[in-house]
Amino acid sequence: VDLVAALVASVGPEHVLTDADRRAPYEVDWTRRWSGPALAVVRPGTTDEVAAVVGACRDAGVAIVPQGGNTGLVGGSVPRPRGDQVVLSTARLSSVGAVDAEAGQVMVGAGATLEAAQAAARGAGFEVGVDLAARGSATVGGMVATNAGGIHVVRNGTMRARVAGLEAVLPDGSVVTRLAGLAKDTAGYDLTGLLVGSEGTLGVVTRVLLSLVPRPVDRITVALGLGSLADAVAVVGRLARRLPGLEAAEVCFADGYDLVSRALGVAAPLPGNPPVTVVVDVGAWSPAAAGVLVDEVAAVLADCPEVLDSAVGTDEPTRARLWEARERHAEAVATVGIPHKLDVAVPLRRLAAFEAAARARVAEVAPGSTTVVWGHVGDGNLHVNVVGPAPDDERVDAAVLALAAAHGGTIAAEHGIGVAKRDHLALTRSPAEIAAMATVKHALDPAGIMNPGVVLPAPPGLFFEL
Ligand SMILES: Cc1cc2nc3c(=O)[nH]c(=O)nc-3n(C[C@H](O)[C@H](O)[C@H](O)COP(=O)(O)OP(=O)(O)OC[C@H]3O[C@@H](n4cnc5c(N)ncnc54)[C@H](O)[C@@H]3O)c2cc1C
Repeated sequence: VDLVAALVASVGPEHVLTDADRRAPYEVDWTRRWSGPALAVVRPGTTDEVAAVVGACRDAGVAIVPQGGNTGLVGGSVPRPRGDQVVLSTARLSSVGAVDAEAGQVMVGAGATLEAAQAAARGAGFEVGVDLAARGSATVGGMVATNAGGIHVVRNGTMRARVAGLEAVLPDGSVVTRLAGLAKDTAGYDLTGLLVGSEGTLGVVTRVLLSLVPRPVDRITVALGLGSLADAVAVVGRLARRLPGLEAAEVCFADGYDLVSRALGVAAPLPGNPPVTVVVDVGAWSPAAAGVLVDEVAAVLADCPEVLDSAVGTDEPTRARLWEARERHAEAVATVGIPHKLDVAVPLRRLAAFEAAARARVAEVAPGSTTVVWGHVGDGNLHVNVVGPAPDDERVDAAVLALAAAHGGTIAAEHGIGVAKRDHLALTRSPAEIAAMATVKHALDPAGIMNPGVVLPAPPGLFFEL
């Protein structure tokens, strides 16, 4: 049977894209480091249509790349260069249900953007609890698939903690539905948990029941100028211990802010642009707490002699100004060239040593390159971005990832493994762990049709890629 004809029969001709022009946006990733032609791009509109598409691809022996907003940063959302994969776009699975205020939950389609889910949550006095700069395009399904982190992990955990249930189509075309939203359910293996962070390799997430968090009645943003990352870690530790309302603690460096200013005309939050800036959000959940928010933060900062300078935003325009240059770092780096994006986390006590060592290693391995670092300091998570080495030159990736592992950390804090880090997985996962992952993958996807070559190497003879 002709696969394209089967796909057209499943979703209708207008949702099977075979023209090169219409396929193009789905074929290159956000960083431009990974791309490949798709056999077709198919856009199912219901769970049944997803199951039909998966069944048709399985019958034809053709691999599927699930794609949400295509903002992933590790090359897992676009086809491999061989040109024999189908992109399954979740763009039409974009429903957003009514918020269940008693349960604090909302049901959304996997293709709903984070921004759409946030709007629904806020309308009912809640927050999604996970936030990131790509909110306008990143989908809830993609965030589940990558177990996204973002700026509120210090308070709310990663995406995993926000998933009360989900529905997914497995590689054999069967549908698993775990949407009762029960706070407790120990009946068997946690299939929801298994799919979170599986990067499209174990199935296509079609619906997600989000567990929301209460929206603060007020929030302030504070930018803190510091002399070093070590000082930033110390200060954020104190803030986290003494301010239960701490929602975000992000770190940027003077050279990164300089780049954002040059490339995008957006100024650093503090005049004089100190060596290190930490941007924090602190929330209050009652009018009484809101009234003393600024004083509460000031009291902690009075015990932080490391702080060289600070600026407080209590209204939305000022808060947005303090955040903007942080949020636009990725965009600024992309203006310089194609970045190697190394998303690592190490234990907090080793973060400053790691950062210094990483900059030194990059200078050795890729002299003359541009290195921009920023991150979620409360989580020990830094994004080391290097522009200079050719996209397929892996030396700088290998060096920085090995350094993170040597500092007791992970090579993938929140972006996932994708294809970018697949061949480095053994730096942070033992042979026993990788073997267990391969066993799970093979059990659920024996033909290797679901995003082969992502996370784990595809077994030779099936869909060997790259
Ligand atoms: C400017 C910018 C800032 C970012 N900031 C952060 C940040 O702070 N924290 C963070 O964690 N990440 C961040 N990211 C990356 C982050 O991983 C993505 O934004 C988001 O999680 C991916 O969602 P997406 O819909 O774009 O997924 P895609 O890019 O489309 O896909 C990502 C992976 O998930 C799989 N996938 C997608 N949808 C599904 C589905 N429905 N079922 C099964 N598999 C699926 C794909 O196959 C792929 O492997 C940022 C990205 C950008 C561009």
